[in-house]
Amino acid sequence: MFKSVLIAVDGSEHAKKALEVACQLVSKEDATLHILHIPEALTHETTLVWGIGAIAIESSREVLEEAGKSVIERASEAARSMGASHVETHLSKGDPARNILRHAEKLGVEAIVMGSRGLGDFAGLMMGSVSHKVTNSAKCTVISVR
Ligand code: ATP
Ligand code: MG
Ligand code: MG
Repeated sequence: MFKSVLIAVDGSEHAKKALEVACQLVSKEDATLHILHIPEALTHETTLVWGIGAIAIESSREVLEEAGKSVIERASEAARSMGASHVETHLSKGDPARNILRHAEKLGVEAIVMGSRGLGDFAGLMMGSVSHKVTNSAKCTVISVR
């Protein structure tokens, strides 16, 4: 069905469920699974710079980057254990929704898989803001896993 699929992971249980669905899609077809993660706090870091000090910022940025790498690595291992044989990982910075859309186009994937909610799941809404933006603007199929 799909030759290449992009799964967006934020480290949440929702994204873990979405990863399972993505793996079912690619393992049947021997398709490529692109795993994308955008460590979110990196976006807002620069607004906090003054008053805190460069060293603290630099080290927290490092911590975030390490955390980001670990999210991607765990997702990649899980994907392989669930039968995905062609896995490519992507770590990016900036706005999550825009990054997901940009990667989908650049990589030419046929579908984006994501959780309907993510780490910020507390407001009782059906859909998170990232999921909402991607679903509205993507040019390819979007599978929102609930
Ligand atoms: P909000 O962020 O609006 O408070 P939320 O966290 O519950 O709400 P979303 O952020 O929209 O919901 O998450 C929905 C899905 O989008 C996640 O399950 C994941 O698939 C993807 N996603 C969200 N943030 C990121 C991110 N930083 N990197 C990669 N994928 C993400
Ligand atoms: Mg958010
Ligand atoms: Mg979120």
